[in-house]
Amino acid sequence: MKQFPVILSLAILAACQPSEAVQKEGFPAGRWVDLTYAFDENTVYWPTAESFRLDTVSEGVTDKGYYYSAYSFCAAEHGGTHMDAPVHFAEGKNAVEQIPLEQLIGPAIVVDVSDKAQGNRDYLIQAIDFETWEQAHGRIPDGAIVLVNTGSGQFWPDRKKYMGTDARGAEAVAELHFPGLHPDAARWLAEERAIKAFGLDTPSIDYGQSTNFESHQILGAANIPGLENIANLDQLPPKGSMAIGLPMLIRHGSGAPLRIVALVPED
Ligand SMILES: [Zn+2]
Repeated sequence: MKQFPVILSLAILAACQPSEAVQKEGFPAGRWVDLTYAFDENTVYWPTAESFRLDTVSEGVTDKGYYYSAYSFCAAEHGGTHMDAPVHFAEGKNAVEQIPLEQLIGPAIVVDVSDKAQGNRDYLIQAIDFETWEQAHGRIPDGAIVLVNTGSGQFWPDRKKYMGTDARGAEAVAELHFPGLHPDAARWLAEERAIKAFGLDTPSIDYGQSTNFESHQILGAANIPGLENIANLDQLPPKGSMAIGLPMLIRHGSGAPLRIVALVPED
């Protein structure tokens, strides 16, 4: 019995007959795309949220002669490239550390609505946008990480262009304008397809003018995490890439900074 796992893994290895790249690195050969914005003083946060701050603890040559740098950071959970855990708008659903790891890794599809969202910063992504994608590329695969490119990435980090206002505070919330997911489309994704996560290139799943965040509620109730302020979506093909989106593992977190990358395999 002791040797069984070794024999089994050798058998799997032989059966897969991976390419040289797979054998070397465990992934197919391809191009890695970073879908993450770096956190700094320009990172976009919700008008009411605390922005990212990096405080210097030490930076320079110590009296013992070696260089030493260290910083403290502080920020709201929800800002920059980040994850909304399902519990964010759905009581009792998964907090950040409760989301299964397998749900954060999966085939990525990219639905491009940038033409429709061009000139309409209040654009609502419809179920028909996903159905149109399916007509061209086939059914959204089970376990997909569904990403929508609204073309908003071109404005990052210009708050006024990206989210409609660069004002801070509660009064600024009514001035938010950016595309988001229509609640009917959220329902369609949650009920008609079996997706792992939904993400887009805006500050929120719900559009800027939303007041009750219904798409957050719908996806959260279905234990589907949201991925927001996703970068570089124009560098991914509509299908065929693999996304890995790992949040900072904040216990009880309603969300967390996210490092998300995708591998676009060679043809
Ligand atoms: Zn969020």
